Amino acid sequence: MAATYDYAIVGNSAAAINACEAIRGVDREGSIILFGEEKYRCYSRPLISYLVAGQIESRGMYYRPSGFYRSMGVEFRKGTRVEEVHAARKTLTTDGKEKVKWRRLLLATGFKPFIPPVPGLEEIDYLTFVSWDDARRMLARTARPARVLIVGAGLIGMKAAEAARARGAAVTVVEKMERVLPQALDAEASRMVWERCREAGIDIVTGQGVAELESRGNGKGRAVLEDGGEMDFDLLVMAVGVRPRVELAEGAGLDCSRGIEVDGHQRTSLEGVYAAGDAVNAMDVVLGRPSINALWPVAALQGKYAGLNMAGKEVPYPGCNSMNAVEFFGLPVLSAGIVNPPDDGYEVISRRSDAGDYRKVVLRGEVLVGMLVAGRIERAGILTSLIQERANVRRVKNFLLEEAFGHIHLPRSVRQERITETAAGIMKAEAARDKGV
Ligand SMILES: Cc1cc2nc3c(=O)[nH]c(=O)nc-3n(C[C@H](O)[C@H](O)[C@H](O)COP(=O)(O)OP(=O)(O)OC[C@H]3O[C@@H](n4cnc5c(N)ncnc54)[C@H](O)[C@@H]3O)c2cc1C
Repeated sequence: MAATYDYAIVGNSAAAINACEAIRGVDREGSIILFGEEKYRCYSRPLISYLVAGQIESRGMYYRPSGFYRSMGVEFRKGTRVEEVHAARKTLTTDGKEKVKWRRLLLATGFKPFIPPVPGLEEIDYLTFVSWDDARRMLARTARPARVLIVGAGLIGMKAAEAARARGAAVTVVEKMERVLPQALDAEASRMVWERCREAGIDIVTGQGVAELESRGNGKGRAVLEDGGEMDFDLLVMAVGVRPRVELAEGAGLDCSRGIEVDGHQRTSLEGVYAAGDAVNAMDVVLGRPSINALWPVAALQGKYAGLNMAGKEVPYPGCNSMNAVEFFGLPVLSAGIVNPPDDGYEVISRRSDAGDYRKVVLRGEVLVGMLVAGRIERAGILTSLIQERANVRRVKNFLLEEAFGHIHLPRSVRQERITETAAGIMKAEAARDKGV
């Protein structure tokens, strides 16, 4: 007979782990089982490029210490894929044909790479660059001098390029749009990243797609670009984008129009089933509508709120925005909210400092809805919190681009509110620590 668990969690990454912690914060007794298809305990996916580049070691990859699952009282099924969910019967079945009954289920299945139908691709042993296993494969295949061709100059493609270059490979990136990181950055910040890449010896071809691929065996081959240009490679990395991983949810009959659809409490369309992370279409506070923000802190926050609600807390997810902090060849870039306004209903203010740093803010009316800083980002965090809070910035608008912009520029009432909130947060954390939580 199938064992019954109070909570079953599918996925073992940012959303899943934060859900476990949130559940345990409320319910210390309920039984939890967690399934992770990969053969690792939870690791920080964004670190795979740093692992390949030799900037961190394997032990620095883990998101939580080795005793985590035990200390949380979680039964962890490592290397186990859930193949089917039956929402009406409240059961799931794994690839090992284990059947489990659950009372509440969380789907935290994340994302999968999108692979375009390029003629000849199926003959080539290519990489995507989304997992620890991918990092291992890149390490192995760049052990000798290699020509690496990366298709796609989004975040994952550029991180793959940086990692491969750090291994001494000759790297070319081909991007269909006219610039690198076209979604995350604006033209100016893109140009700054591009310059850094060029200085580091990475070749970038924009405005070109790969029309055809020809295998030469062992993962090697030749790419023919849309303009007829040809490129030989020893390793091909496909990084043209990601999609929410919704097969399991779809099979269970969940509404997955743009990702797994959830309400304001991370509940899906079926009773007892919750969802969180990159697979999910959840509220974006800047856009004022659901959107998929495939980012680690967003997945973590959704996981936390899914966990709280699963454990019966009834707390609404506060919403997130597309905030990202990332570094390319020593150039830190911080962006949040709307970076490329879709029409002229927005006010854009930007400035390049004498030192070469770039700052830009985007306002809609009197509300800050987007920001981008490339270079010195240390003090820019306050802008991201103003975006998240949907704060009215009319009185501080002239200071937003100042590098020294900080709490001191905020109206006294807001400063007082924040000091009170911070103090309350510290007291809560101390109380939790004293209780050993
Ligand atoms: C190279 C790279 C760099 C990145 N850099 C950044 C960055 O700088 N900043 C940032 O915020 N984000 C970054 N990200 C994105 C970030 O990693 C994701 O947003 C985050 O990992 C999403 O977490 P998640 O919990 O939704 O799911 P995922 O991390 O996608 O994990 C889902 C897990 O569920 C497992 N799974 C799926 N289906 C099943 C099943 N049926 N049964 C069992 N297990 C299953 C998968 O194997 C996987 O382990 C980066 C990603 C990559 C690849």
